[in-house]
Amino acid sequence: MDYFDPHIHMVSRTTDDYATLARMGCVGMSEPAFWAGFDRGSAASFRDYFRQLTEFERSRAASYGIAHYTWLCINAKEAENVELSREVIAMIPEFLDRPNVLGIGEIGLNKNTKNESIVFLEHLDLAAKYNELILIHTPHLHDKYLGTRMILDMLVSDARLERHRVLVDHVEEHTIGEVLDRGFWAGMTLYPVSKCTPARAADMVEQFGTERLCVNSAGDWGPSQPTAVPNFIFEMRRRGHSEATIRKVVYENPLAFFRQCHRFQFSPRQ
Ligand SMILES: [Zn+2]
Repeated sequence: MDYFDPHIHMVSRTTDDYATLARMGCVGMSEPAFWAGFDRGSAASFRDYFRQLTEFERSRAASYGIAHYTWLCINAKEAENVELSREVIAMIPEFLDRPNVLGIGEIGLNKNTKNESIVFLEHLDLAAKYNELILIHTPHLHDKYLGTRMILDMLVSDARLERHRVLVDHVEEHTIGEVLDRGFWAGMTLYPVSKCTPARAADMVEQFGTERLCVNSAGDWGPSQPTAVPNFIFEMRRRGHSEATIRKVVYENPLAFFRQCHRFQFSPRQ
C-alpha cells in the first residue's frame, strides 16, 4: 500500500533506509527540523541545516522515488537560548519559498519552561504572518499532559491561527481526545521504546475514528523504527480493518493536511 510518513528525520538515516521504505510503499515523507543531539552554536549552523533539508535531503529522497517535504524552526530543546532562537526565527523567511517547505515545525515544548513558551509564541506569530501550516511537538512522558494543555491553550489564544491547519504530534491515549475535540489534527508516533506502538495506535483509531488522524515513525538518530508505518498497516489488517480505512490514515489524511500548504505539489502514482 502506498503511504506517507509525515514525521521522519531522514538526515539521521541511511540510504538503506530509503531503499527499504521505497520498497514498502513509502511515496512521500515530511521531515520536521529537530534537535541534532547537541546544541548548535550559531544561527549559521541552522542556515546550513535548512539548506540540507530543502536541497540535499530532497534530492536524496527523489533518487528513491520518494517525495520529500520539510518543516523549519528551532526546536524546543534549543529554545532555552532565546537570543539564538530569535536569530533563527528571523532567518526562516529566507527559506519559506522553497518548494518542499510545508510550514513551521516541529515547534512546541520540551520541559514546559518559560523560555520555551516565549519561543513557541514567536514561532506562532511567524506562522500567522506568513500564513504557514504548523507542526507541533508535544513533550515526552510525564511532561506530556501538562505540556499539551499549555500548547493547545497558546494555540487557541491566537485568533489568527486556524485549527485545521495545525497538526499536534506525539499524541497518546490521554491527549488525543482533547486535540481532536478542539479541532486540530493529531499525529500518533510509533516508537519502539516510548510514545505509541502500532497496536496502541490501532486501538486509538478504533476508539476515535479516522478523521484528522495520522501515524508516523519519527525515525531519527535514537532508537526508532523507520518502517513503523508499514507495521501499523499490518496490525490494522490483522484486525480486519478495510484497505480503505487504512489508506485514509496512512495516505489520504497526510495528503489532505499537506494540501493546505499553497506550495505543496504531489503527483500520485499512476
Ligand atoms: Zn521529531
